Amino acid sequence: MASLPDILDNGLCTGCGGCVSALGRPDFGMAMTGSGYLRPQPLALSKGEEAVLDKVCPGLGLDGLAQDEDYHPLWGPIRSLATGHAIDPEVRFRGSSGGVLTALAIGLVESGEVDFVLTNGAALDDPINNATDAKASRAELLGAAGSRYAPSSPLARVAEHLDSGKRFAFIGKPCDVAGLARLARHDPRVDKQIPYRFAFFCAGVPSRHGTLKVLEKLEVAHEDCVSFQYRGDGWPGLARATRADGTQSSMDYNSSWGSILNGHLQFRCKICPDGTGEFADIACADAWYGKDGYPDFTERDGRSLIVARTDKGRQLYERAMAEGWIAAEPLAIEEIAKMQPYQVSRKSNVLARTAALLLLGRRRPRYRRLALWQLAARAGVMGQLRNAWGTFKRSRRVTLN
Ligand SMILES: Cc1cc2nc3c(=O)[nH]c(=O)nc-3n(C[C@H](O)[C@H](O)[C@H](O)COP(=O)(O)OP(=O)(O)OC[C@H]3O[C@@H](n4cnc5c(N)ncnc54)[C@H](O)[C@@H]3O)c2cc1C
Ligand code: SF4
Ligand code: SF4
Repeated sequence: MASLPDILDNGLCTGCGGCVSALGRPDFGMAMTGSGYLRPQPLALSKGEEAVLDKVCPGLGLDGLAQDEDYHPLWGPIRSLATGHAIDPEVRFRGSSGGVLTALAIGLVESGEVDFVLTNGAALDDPINNATDAKASRAELLGAAGSRYAPSSPLARVAEHLDSGKRFAFIGKPCDVAGLARLARHDPRVDKQIPYRFAFFCAGVPSRHGTLKVLEKLEVAHEDCVSFQYRGDGWPGLARATRADGTQSSMDYNSSWGSILNGHLQFRCKICPDGTGEFADIACADAWYGKDGYPDFTERDGRSLIVARTDKGRQLYERAMAEGWIAAEPLAIEEIAKMQPYQVSRKSNVLARTAALLLLGRRRPRYRRLALWQLAARAGVMGQLRNAWGTFKRSRRVTLN
């Protein structure tokens, strides 16, 4: 069984906040570390509390669904696969890609199927921080649309929302949704009160320092920044900072994510076996068009990849089409790899990367039924050795926590 300091010192924490909800201790919460990540305090826990942590923590391990007959080794369970966008032009424009997650959230709230959607947005006290709140109207959900490439802990207050007795949907990173599935093993209210779970594909969470670097490059002082968006208002949309006097500075996606933010990812993301939301009912992603064999980030109308992973997710997808929340068309499974090459290489190399941790004498996460052996065999010995060696070298230098 792992202790909290053990999880943190070995760089396994994703920052989801699930332990805070599961343990329910008034003296325990998430806080921003000097490295710019959200982490639980490294408290000493009782044996009983450590057993709960072991059960709920997605950083420690994931039990996948590879036994599912619709399971694809790279892309997880697939009940239906499509590309599409929100029909409401404002939702499509505001959304990160096609605004599909926001359209589903609005549809569920407006049809009364859920009381609210628990999702992330900019914190009120600091525009580069995130806050997860209950959003119960179109306006609130529209305000939360778009990707925020900064730490968030969407599960930290999920117990409070369960206490309200209300039904709600959840949107988060794949590790948050996986954490929610693990939390359900500890708290049966999760399955009763959270009928829909949505994820987006995720390449990793950058530290807060990444955003501070973007601000520096934009020549906007953090103290003077009154709002900050990473994307949206087009696809992929600009990273845009607004100063107190109303002036703005912006940079394109390639410059913000590609040149700055993705150099600040937390360690756990490098060994993440589920960047595609395998535990969600529906997972969405950028359905990039290609150019010269690579995703093309030229600005255009947004388009999302839509992967329904459960029967419930497929039914919701069909209903969203029938009720005019979204427009979509089917996609062949082979097309995903062209849109999401990073997800192919990371999942294929996770086994080698975690093997390197063994050589370093570090705790390894327990990943089961995620088809990692099958992918490693396909990737070939040389690729695996290169990845193991790279992780071995880098892990001695990088900040793990
Ligand atoms: C850290 C991060 C990494 C990503 N990596 C990839 C990737 O590798 N490949 C890819 O295709 N897409 C990635 N995305 C997601 C992608 O940018 C789009 O969100 C996705 O295409 C869905 O688009 P949409 O228009 O349907 O979502 P929208 O309608 O814009 O809805 C997005 C939802 O995500 C929530 N959200 C945004 N940021 C966070 C956050 N930090 N924590 C929790 N919830 C959040 C919002 O509150 C909103 O509900 C990433 C997003 C983030 C935040
Ligand atoms: S991964 Fe989540 S549950 Fe595990 S220690 Fe970190 S915040 Fe807590
Ligand atoms: S890459 Fe994986 S561990 Fe990192 S934030 Fe995304 S889902 Fe979580």
